[in-house]
Amino acid sequence: LSPVPSDIEISRSQSPKAIELLAREVGLLPDEIEAHGKTKAKVRLSLLDRLKEQPDGKYVLVAGITPTPLGEGKSTVTVGLAQALTAHLKLNSFACLRQPSQGPTFGVKGGAAGGGYAQVIPMEEFNLHLTGDIHAITAANNLVAAAIDARVLHEATQSDKALYGRLVPTVNGLRKFSPIQTARLRKLGIDKTEPGALTPEEIRSFVRLDIDPSGITWQRVVDTNDRFLRKITIGQASTEKGQARQAQFDIAVASEVMAILALTDGLRDMKERFSRMVVGSSRTGRPVTAQDLGVSGALAILMKDAIKPTLMQTLEGTPVFVHAGPFANIAHGNSSVLADKLALKLVGEEGFVVTEAGFGADIGMEKFFNIKCRTSGLRPNVVVLVATVRALKMHGGGPKNLQLVADGCSNLRKQIEIAQLFGVPVVVAVNVFRTDTEAEIDLVCRIARDSGASDAVACYHWSRGGRGCVELARAVRKAAQQPNHFRFLYDLQMPIVEKIRTIAQKVYGADDVEVSQEAQAKIDNYNEQGFGNLPICMAKTHLSLSHLPDWKGVPTGFLLPIRDVRASIGAGFIYPLVGTMSTMPGLPTRPCFYDMDLDPDTEQIAGLF
Ligand code: ADP
Repeated sequence: LSPVPSDIEISRSQSPKAIELLAREVGLLPDEIEAHGKTKAKVRLSLLDRLKEQPDGKYVLVAGITPTPLGEGKSTVTVGLAQALTAHLKLNSFACLRQPSQGPTFGVKGGAAGGGYAQVIPMEEFNLHLTGDIHAITAANNLVAAAIDARVLHEATQSDKALYGRLVPTVNGLRKFSPIQTARLRKLGIDKTEPGALTPEEIRSFVRLDIDPSGITWQRVVDTNDRFLRKITIGQASTEKGQARQAQFDIAVASEVMAILALTDGLRDMKERFSRMVVGSSRTGRPVTAQDLGVSGALAILMKDAIKPTLMQTLEGTPVFVHAGPFANIAHGNSSVLADKLALKLVGEEGFVVTEAGFGADIGMEKFFNIKCRTSGLRPNVVVLVATVRALKMHGGGPKNLQLVADGCSNLRKQIEIAQLFGVPVVVAVNVFRTDTEAEIDLVCRIARDSGASDAVACYHWSRGGRGCVELARAVRKAAQQPNHFRFLYDLQMPIVEKIRTIAQKVYGADDVEVSQEAQAKIDNYNEQGFGNLPICMAKTHLSLSHLPDWKGVPTGFLLPIRDVRASIGAGFIYPLVGTMSTMPGLPTRPCFYDMDLDPDTEQIAGLF
């Protein structure tokens, strides 16, 4: 239709097929799905075992140029491309997307189901609670936080003997260690199975984690852009007996639990990763883990359903996996390894899986390669780089003339170069807006090809659905046949600062890094604790290649400031905070929720986009 109706009107105008039918169409057996209502189903991981001999399909990553705050259409391209591959090239295909966070849905950007005639339906279910995974992550994350502070309080107020009595309960008149406690004793080098046999010194080291309150790195999370939680004081009631301390909330999608959900390859691995999560240090500098707190088993229970990807469909009935949702600026920015692996098996050798990495190629794609691919062992065949004339004009310095588009293409050129660092063919997708001129689109495509892209095509999926994206589908199919010279950007054995410097110089274009004293002290500590060989997950603004959001195009001649460094040991990366990057976004003066409403008679939602 022209003009194109709103996303929610389009979504509502199409009746999705029953989820059982979709599941059958993609080759799932009835007992491999757990339906959540009529349009969503969790898919059991036993599928991976059933299809383990099946060769994988082709793997396509959708990344983008440095975007405007509104987004340049990576999700719409992901959906539109899958629609075109399936309906028009008659190839099996799957789109893999992240679950949106409430932060942007109610804040600035809106939902993340795609848009126009290239979206996942029903979009309100996709954009809001889905199957509750983010709620489960929030519950798991905050259980760890509660466990830490309660443990500090109890250790501060009880004798060794009293702690021991409570931690090792009497079962049928006998004191017994739990399996987690036996594991902890082993870690401490205490080789005793009888609780009565421990010496007072052994009891002391067993019951006291001796957490240094100023060394606690684990934060509470909530899935709302609630800026007033960026710095808080907790434990102010008299019942907490003077244990008040400064703390903060992060947005839930920045939680290490979310990062683990996206990177894990199954329940066993997820449990092990949970137990390895480091929540802080003891007063003697030892890392304190979730397993030390005895909480890792409970986390696995809370997350046992969230680990299953959710099956949904596009407006044209193409299958979609929605799973995990880390942001690319303050987390690793990629949907789950499990969803990609399941989809690659389901589409078969000739099929295509289109997966998306958040924000610009400098952050989402860099982490896709260096973190997600390293963990999963999967290698993409093609990178699709999404560009819009509107964002290129912004990089060029203004809205009106062709020269500004040409100038702004510096950012596109740089992002193509970044993708080429990893040795994978790049196809540029120009996501066409109604206001773009033919001359502008032709210019961008020409510059993209001159800059080394295998191909560059205009895409009309937003206004026309899959048929508006057929040319891109053909270009991707062709590029997937090209030789692939995949390589990582850095070697894990390099020192932490060298790895950060490599990303800063080769990807962001910085002259060098400037590491604060606080960051350097943390790096030294992580090295001492044996965490030096992990990949790097930079927390950097998505609005510029540099650390300054207003710095457009291709900034040069700058030092990248590393303010702080955290470690996500369960997820398996070191997490530097660049410049003033915050792990809790704020709401603007006029957030998206201003326009949202619910009709109490029909239960229809208005204003969600
Ligand atoms: P990204 O995934 O890159 O952040 P999205 O695909 O979510 O971007 O698109 C951002 C917003 O822009 C969505 O609301 C989407 O509907 C809208 N949009 C995307 N492409 C177009 C287009 N060609 N014309 C108009 N609006 C578009």
